[in-house]
Amino acid sequence: MSSTPPAPRTAGIEPDPYTLTAPWADELNQDVEEWDARAEFPWEKWKVIQRSGLLAVPFETRYGGSGGTLTGTMRALEGLGRTCRDAGLGFSASTQIVSVGVPLQAFGSEELKSRFLPGIVTGDLITAHAITEPGNGSDALNISTTATRDGDDYVIDGGKLFITNAPIADLLLLYVRTGKPGPFGLSVFLVERDTPGLRVGEPLGKMGLRTSPISEVTFESMRVPATRRIGQEGAGFLILDHVMKREILFSFSLTLGEMEHRLERVIGYAKSRQQFGAPIGAFQGVSHKIADMKIAVETARKWLADTGAKVEAGQDAAIDIAATKIVVSEANKRTALDAVQIFGGQGYLTATGIERDVRNAIGGTIYSGTSEIQRNRIASLLGL
Ligand SMILES: Cc1cc2nc3c(=O)[nH]c(=O)nc-3n(C[C@H](O)[C@H](O)[C@H](O)COP(=O)(O)OP(=O)(O)OC[C@H]3O[C@@H](n4cnc5c(N)ncnc54)[C@H](O)[C@@H]3O)c2cc1C
Repeated sequence: MSSTPPAPRTAGIEPDPYTLTAPWADELNQDVEEWDARAEFPWEKWKVIQRSGLLAVPFETRYGGSGGTLTGTMRALEGLGRTCRDAGLGFSASTQIVSVGVPLQAFGSEELKSRFLPGIVTGDLITAHAITEPGNGSDALNISTTATRDGDDYVIDGGKLFITNAPIADLLLLYVRTGKPGPFGLSVFLVERDTPGLRVGEPLGKMGLRTSPISEVTFESMRVPATRRIGQEGAGFLILDHVMKREILFSFSLTLGEMEHRLERVIGYAKSRQQFGAPIGAFQGVSHKIADMKIAVETARKWLADTGAKVEAGQDAAIDIAATKIVVSEANKRTALDAVQIFGGQGYLTATGIERDVRNAIGGTIYSGTSEIQRNRIASLLGL
């Protein structure tokens, strides 16, 4: 890999965004176990992600973006998942795209867009979004952080928990209550990290995605100008719905790419590892697991492609989004565990990198709405 990276791709995306990060595999995959063990955000690798142009894909060219589509962004993230063995870095990149840039582009004022989008698109401004609270996780719309109007400002009080990228973020998008209880009393504000009254907690240790920092954030009499509101007062639920659809499509496209890589790796091992005078892939106990893994990857691909196309076309995709999230996140957990079993003792060793996949996969059935909540959603949309 050359040490001189090509120029940033900011003018029109490649024919297939899947290949965007492939040339950077060596840099992205350097010392992944060590970074994971230290649970540190890999700043040098972030610069590689920046140079690749990945973060620019879904944004309009007038803000420095590539003008890509929703499905193009999914392809780009799938390609990152296929290329990059640091799932935490991928998760932070996916959060960067969806947390502030996507809602700002869709709902923000021209003033906020021209001020902040160029830095978000390059990745110079790191972003996070804060929905979950200590008392409101699955019950996400029951937000209790309040924003009270005071002249030209709002005064925000409360706290958020599990905020991906918060420890490194320059900008945070806050979902807060400005009105009555329920989904239509919510509004969204863009705040800068150095706003007086905002406190970002220390990074929290966690099982997987360890290079993606996460923390709590609290607000005490934090004064925010009304011009920092994204969309109308009370539009928080509408914005959250727009964002969550894309969060699921983007971050689980990344997961699909990771599953593609796992499948290739497992096939390679099953062909090369010999026991009883034959490659272990010749034993049905192993080959059927791999066949199931292939089915899981292709099922994930079909759900993502179909749901992505529906969302892009503006069709109702409420059940599809929930189903896609369940299918991909649960397939990721299952196939990660099967990969450990197929690799045997090697799979259990940190250095092989397969056990890290299991730890990384567990979070997928929790973040962006747990599997239980997604099933509740489908059941309720079926009238149950
Ligand atoms: C890696 C990671 C990254 C995250 N990043 C962010 C972020 O950037 N921003 C952000 O705002 N949040 C983030 N979150 C928070 C995430 O959205 C919440 O953890 C999630 O919504 C679940 O909330 P909770 O953890 O409070 O669990 P709880 O809501 O307390 O749920 C605990 C258990 O009870 C189950 N349960 C709850 N209610 C029901 C019900 N009605 N029916 C059946 N089962 C139920 C849940 O499914 C779960 O199994 C992140 C979480 C993780 C793990």
